[in-house]
Amino acid sequence: MEETVKKSLNFIEEIVEKDLREGKNDGRLQTRFPPEPNGYLHIGHAKAICMDFGIAQQYGGICNLRFDDTNPSKEDVEYVDSIQEDIKWLGFEWGNIYYASDYFQQLWDLAVQLIKDGKAYIDEQSAEEIAKQKGTPTTPGTESPYRNRPVEENLALFAKMNTGEIPEGAMVLRAKIDMASPNMHFRDPIMYRIITSHPHHRTGTQWKAYPMYDYAHGQSDYFEGVTHSICTLEFVVHRPLYDWFIDQFADSDYRPRQYEFNRLNITYTVMSKRKMLQLVQEGVVAGWDDPRMPTICGLRRRGYTPEAIRDFIDRIGYTKVDGMIDVSLLEHSIREDLKPKAHRVSALFDPIKLVITNYPEGQKEYMTTDNNPDNEAAGTREMPFGKEIYIERGDFMEDAPKDFFRLTPGGREVRLKSAYIIQCTGCEKDENGQVTTVYCTYDPDTKSGTEGSKRKVKSTINWLDKDGCIEAEVRLYDRLFKVEDPAAYDGDFHDLLNEDSLEVKTALVEKHLEGAQAGDHFQFLKIGYFTVDKDSQDGKLILNRTVSLKDNWAKK
Ligand code: ATP
Ligand code: MG
Repeated sequence: MEETVKKSLNFIEEIVEKDLREGKNDGRLQTRFPPEPNGYLHIGHAKAICMDFGIAQQYGGICNLRFDDTNPSKEDVEYVDSIQEDIKWLGFEWGNIYYASDYFQQLWDLAVQLIKDGKAYIDEQSAEEIAKQKGTPTTPGTESPYRNRPVEENLALFAKMNTGEIPEGAMVLRAKIDMASPNMHFRDPIMYRIITSHPHHRTGTQWKAYPMYDYAHGQSDYFEGVTHSICTLEFVVHRPLYDWFIDQFADSDYRPRQYEFNRLNITYTVMSKRKMLQLVQEGVVAGWDDPRMPTICGLRRRGYTPEAIRDFIDRIGYTKVDGMIDVSLLEHSIREDLKPKAHRVSALFDPIKLVITNYPEGQKEYMTTDNNPDNEAAGTREMPFGKEIYIERGDFMEDAPKDFFRLTPGGREVRLKSAYIIQCTGCEKDENGQVTTVYCTYDPDTKSGTEGSKRKVKSTINWLDKDGCIEAEVRLYDRLFKVEDPAAYDGDFHDLLNEDSLEVKTALVEKHLEGAQAGDHFQFLKIGYFTVDKDSQDGKLILNRTVSLKDNWAKK
């Protein structure tokens, strides 16, 4: 019997299905992902991307990528490029690439139209004065003294706003709507402001007056034929204004409609681009792609896969209530994804030499080991084994309590993974009392895979043959912040930084890793998942800890 698992629809899927069923928008489905190119994409954007691109894909529509580039003072082509790279990496394809700046002339012409209709005016008050007149949600605002300027004067001043002769902040174009509206966004919202201090990354110095989000966004949606303009909940209160602007100009029945879902917030991190930029500029992190950053490029460098990120987004779902998601759920997703993919290898962070005294001098054997016991297709490899090996220092204790089941002189038998059972006979120490060598004997009849391997011992430890290992730098990343919700903190967020968010060590790893490429994933047995960093060079392998093995989420 064929089993079909039908997941229940999220509320946006329900809306889209209903619209398509009713033949709305001539049966078209068109979405857009509209990033402002003023920073790198983060995991929150991935949630919007999975919705915007995902829903178009799911219902045979198209999703365009639109750069919302209306504020040149913070935008740059560096961001435009990285955004495209990250979307592709996540596994999505856009129909077209658009730029809000492509519509600057159209937007300008419509603004002129609105002035002519007596629905917009030039205000020469300062930003502070305008803010003071806004009123409160329960008390009406005050009308600007410039509100009733003659149309001709407004047109002349608007033209001047774009010539460069008016300094930044000296005047703005405002829509003339209702200073007493219960919706604050209707109290004569600003449509245009002057920015002369930064040339635009695409239009250079051609424009000096730039449209504001509320005006530009809805019009851009309308120009492009967007049917479902999906964004996050903070835009609910903007929706009436979005509709109002479109209604002023629409020359058909078609309307793009805005729908809002809950933003993604994750514990122990910040996702505001302003704060992330600060972390980068101050050198708190090594760049936008620092593996501690919640950016897509940071997660990629850390070792996250597109599959894990999409799985995570799928698990959290889309609702209409904001909340905070536990980062351990994201970590759970990457563990699940890497489990069948990553080769299991031996790695020792604090190696100590072990000599098997009864093992023949000069002999080498090759121990067959599964590359991934969870995935037979991953095959096997041969690990060299000889008289001198390394083990993790913590697997030996000279004076051990009764319940220590690993190596201790005169103690119980221990299995070397995929090799033999050994027993400790003693150790050697340096002048500081530090153990330098552990001595053991082995039982030649207990080789893994043979009849003798069935003998039960309490513990199995990892090892590396002295000729079967190489050194590698391991970068142990941890949470960037010490508290769950650093964004909620009123003080300086530097107070909350986790000083131990990066620890760099030299480890011994299997030779199997030699020649591994940036992005290759491994599971270090008993330790965690690691991914080769792009800083690696021939002869210098660097791995980032993607995630430890301990799964706090599965426990919950
Ligand atoms: P910031 O305020 O930090 O600059 P932003 O939300 O303005 O970020 P945009 O580039 O404008 O960033 O966002 C593009 C799209 O991604 C928008 O539709 C926005 O709603 C969505 N988005 C941004 N952050 C999140 C988030 N944390 N969760 C879900 N969607 C998000
Ligand atoms: Mg924005």
